[in-house]
Amino acid sequence: MPKCALITGITGQDGRYLTEHLLGLGYEVHGISRDIPDAWSGSPACLHRGNILDAGFIMQIVEHTTPDEVYNLAAIHKEQHQQHTTTLSAPHYAIQTNTLGALNLLEACRTAAPHARVFQAGSSEMFGPSEEEGLHGVETPMRPVSSYGCAKLLAYTLVRHYRDAHGLAASNGILFNHESPYRNPVFVTGKVVKSAVEIYRGRREKLALGNLTTARDWGHAKDYVRAMHLINISETPGDWVISTGISHTVSQLCEYVFRSLDLNYEDYIVQHPDYVRTEESVPLCGDSGPLRDRLGWECDYTFETMLDDMIEYWKGEIG
Ligand code: GDP
Repeated sequence: MPKCALITGITGQDGRYLTEHLLGLGYEVHGISRDIPDAWSGSPACLHRGNILDAGFIMQIVEHTTPDEVYNLAAIHKEQHQQHTTTLSAPHYAIQTNTLGALNLLEACRTAAPHARVFQAGSSEMFGPSEEEGLHGVETPMRPVSSYGCAKLLAYTLVRHYRDAHGLAASNGILFNHESPYRNPVFVTGKVVKSAVEIYRGRREKLALGNLTTARDWGHAKDYVRAMHLINISETPGDWVISTGISHTVSQLCEYVFRSLDLNYEDYIVQHPDYVRTEESVPLCGDSGPLRDRLGWECDYTFETMLDDMIEYWKGEIG
């Protein structure tokens, strides 16, 4: 019998890569999503349309699939809010989905699939713009400054509670920024790569950005979903940071992308106040040392090869 995995938010960036990874390992994959894009129609994964906020629906799917492994990747980020609701404010919607969704899944597993191993996708936004020096690990104090970060922190705490109080094999992965060709270009990597290719193809003249000196610990989503799987099958459930441990600034990102297209980024970038943030919400670098040392995880991609992958994709999209 193949192992069965259930993935919420399956049609997002991470869900797509995790599905490919698990199918490649011979898993039967079930996924939950509010919207199922046409591109998924021939997929060997079995998709269930529904909302993670619907506790009855989640219970029904968990009872029906009795998964060996569950991955909670469904989340609302601040930028996605407008696409999905007009009745709730952005913080309401993010907090509702990112916390109650996790609770519904944990409750369904506790009652209908107590043997299941559960992975919860956390975020570096849980730390807030920490002033702590050095790499951030699971022991670093968490002081989120965004509704997204607050919601993710509550879900993280619920996972620990279900592990300690109910004996559920539930783990948290705190994911630092992770990108890929599938990344929504509302995030800076996708925005820079897509716009640079548009400039290269003569479709655009300038690129307006915010702060160029801020830095992020950027990894490739493909590497990060392998980490999610390793965490979920590890002997002892626990909490882990998924990151590269290396940060780059937005200017370094621009310089590399434009140079790869034989362009000088300084000729094209303009700063626009609309994109300048007064407060940053994530710390510099994550400590994935325990993940590497204890679970043998390694990144296949570097910052540069991750961007090469995105550049190739956007060159194909923008003819
Ligand atoms: P997140 O803030 O970590 O969720 O990821 P983003 O990709 O949205 O932002 C990463 C960094 O890029 C932050 O420090 C932003 O302030 C900076 N940044 C500079 N210009 C832009 C821009 O035009 N759009 C976005 N999204 N970020 C920008």
